[in-house]
Amino acid sequence: MRLGIDVGGTKIEGIALAGRADSGLRPGAVLARRRIATPAGDYPATVRAIASLVSAIEAETTRRGTVGVGIPGAVSPATGLVKNANSTCLIGHSIDRDLEEALGRPVRIDNDANCFALSEAVDGAAAGASCVFGVIMGTGVGGGIAIDGRTVPGRMRIAGEWGHNPLASPRAERPWSEIPGPLCYCGRTGCTESWISGPALAADHARTTGQALDPPAIAAAARSGDAGAAATMARHADRLARALATVVNVLDPDVIVIGGGLSNLDLVFDGIAERLAPRVFTDRFDTPILRPLHGDSSGVRGAAWLWPDEPHSASARAAARPAARGTDGGRRAGASSPERETDHAEPDALGG
Ligand SMILES: [Zn+2]
Repeated sequence: MRLGIDVGGTKIEGIALAGRADSGLRPGAVLARRRIATPAGDYPATVRAIASLVSAIEAETTRRGTVGVGIPGAVSPATGLVKNANSTCLIGHSIDRDLEEALGRPVRIDNDANCFALSEAVDGAAAGASCVFGVIMGTGVGGGIAIDGRTVPGRMRIAGEWGHNPLASPRAERPWSEIPGPLCYCGRTGCTESWISGPALAADHARTTGQALDPPAIAAAARSGDAGAAATMARHADRLARALATVVNVLDPDVIVIGGGLSNLDLVFDGIAERLAPRVFTDRFDTPILRPLHGDSSGVRGAAWLWPDEPHSASARAAARPAARGTDGGRRAGASSPERETDHAEPDALGG
């Protein structure tokens, strides 16, 4: 069994997915799912909340699982502390160490956009693709990479963070007005995120029309023939295409999956391939650009998949189970018991 935890600014979600040989269940089948409110601004309480969520799910499923955690941000290899988290209390803490202590087992932590890409790559919209670029376009703009069933965190754990690249080919003239661009929370101006996130779309519309509408209302107005709203959506689509083209030129993913709140708006996908094609360095652009199969559940599912199907080392096993109950042989012998985790790929998930 695999446990995934998705730590958000307002809620913490937990999910238990069946392992590959889990009592005859389809791998990835949901065994349990829970959601709690994130303790606002309280890091120790957040760690305790995650630990209690894991305990509750394991009590419900009567199994012990591997634990993967998706966070909005990343653990810096330089300091061991969380960085790049926009709006949570995780920044500056050793969340991996603290969770391993609280849970008594190794914990894998990755950026939430990487988890999203992994989820869609394993059994989602991009299932079967080797290289997947996952986009979360909502309040912010994140990106993650999964290759051959694993995330690609990168040396500094920032791989895929295209939202903080400057918007490509900025246009100065009205109504574009993209130079120098808005100030981003990261301290730079003209970041892609500050042009194509949900709040950025609303701000662009307000700047050009004087109307304060949220993105769904802008899209609805565009659909019903409002010229100003249609122009706003067209500018957004053009910016999205410019930004994605730079990603395609670097990574050339097999599939791009776009999730997050804005992915619910049809207009975001309208003509996107046609807009991208002339901007990509290729004779023919045919990269599929898809919606996520697992929707809002992809983050938490991907966190669970941070423990892929492979045998772990004996030392990892020992670390995972201080009270290990036996040898591999013993565990294999228990393969028919529904009470036992039998997935060969995650022996450190075993437990009674
Ligand atoms: Zn930025």
